[in-house]
Amino acid sequence: MSGSPIQRHKTVAVKVGHVTVGGDAPVVVQSMTNTDTADIKATVDQVAALARAGSELVRITVNSEEAAAAVAAIREGLDARGVDVPLVGDFHFNGHRLLTQYPECAQALAKYRINPGNVGSGEKRDAQFAAMIETAIANGKAVRIGVNWGSLDKALVARMMDANAKSGDPLDADAMMREVMVASALQSAAKAEEIGLGRDRIVLSCKMSGVQDLIGVYRMLAARCDYALHLGLTEAGMGSKGIVASTAALAVLLQEGIGDTIRISLTPEPGGDRAQEVRVGQEILQSMGLRAFMPMVIACPGCGRTTSTYFQQLAQDIQRYLREQMPAWREHYPGVEEMDVAVMGCVVNGPGESKHANIGISLPGTGEQPSAPVYVDGVKFTTLKGDAIATEFQAIVDDYVRTRYGRSSGAA
Ligand code: SF4
Repeated sequence: MSGSPIQRHKTVAVKVGHVTVGGDAPVVVQSMTNTDTADIKATVDQVAALARAGSELVRITVNSEEAAAAVAAIREGLDARGVDVPLVGDFHFNGHRLLTQYPECAQALAKYRINPGNVGSGEKRDAQFAAMIETAIANGKAVRIGVNWGSLDKALVARMMDANAKSGDPLDADAMMREVMVASALQSAAKAEEIGLGRDRIVLSCKMSGVQDLIGVYRMLAARCDYALHLGLTEAGMGSKGIVASTAALAVLLQEGIGDTIRISLTPEPGGDRAQEVRVGQEILQSMGLRAFMPMVIACPGCGRTTSTYFQQLAQDIQRYLREQMPAWREHYPGVEEMDVAVMGCVVNGPGESKHANIGISLPGTGEQPSAPVYVDGVKFTTLKGDAIATEFQAIVDDYVRTRYGRSSGAA
């Protein structure tokens, strides 16, 4: 991957199982299951699928005794399948009880997510928060203090709103909301440190559903602390709306060097693939030049020259083929994730774009000769013709991967 001009905001590195979040570590992609955690098989299947898609941490909800009782078996099931992705437990109002009553759950998780607005109220709040932090300390685990604007600590909101109203120069409601979010995260982190949790065990997040709010809050957090930061737009939504909103918010922050781990909170289509949130996270990082996860297919948008769907079909087939090969290629062909494949719709811009990619093909546009020039490493390699262009091109890609990225002298 070419050097990125982005200066990362300096944060303290946090070990989450074998994965490092923050410090000099690359930005980590994580995801969350939507299975019932008490359903061990369904959860193991989904965590494995998310890990296979490239999720480097996977969060599961631990919301009940049944869920807490299932966590160790989920970990074992994953280990038995050779899936070593660290698990993060998402806890709310009963987290202190579940972590105490189910020590094997506390041990099997690599990180606990605690929402300070959702750990109890009144006098119980501090004791319940402390119980979770103490469990993390006893088990050597990391904690994400995850503030969510939908569940802010009501007492803190009331105190800060009151003080704001009495001040000579009160902030408007939105600015005040952002101040409360940041204060909730920082005060909870300070409390966790007082209890004895190291800074190298603390990750912070302040999730909001508005793009500008999220950007504002994280800029404040980055200016005021060096805790590792988890980025994500909460309730991003479904389909292109969720993808665009998440990308708009995260791209601005990542460009400013803010963010050590990301999660894209997409609402899946009914029956949709949960791993889409992982792919979107990877694509954001890869298109910004921050990380490389899989070969990029560079395809032109098509125009009046591409009146058949053949070109779109080939671009889609190649994209799918590369994605399917990646789990095996990642192991055998290190560096393949940086390969660029151009699939262009005609010979007007096709050869030029193809020369910049590792491999490129320009399909015949309407009225052009029925032939497809292929370039490899900037040089004309062959011209494909006839009905088997797609399979022949795929074979060229396979050969290229084997010879260019194979470990031993170019052979597979
Ligand atoms: S490369 Fe050709 S087909 Fe693709 S958008 Fe440009 S002119 Fe149209």
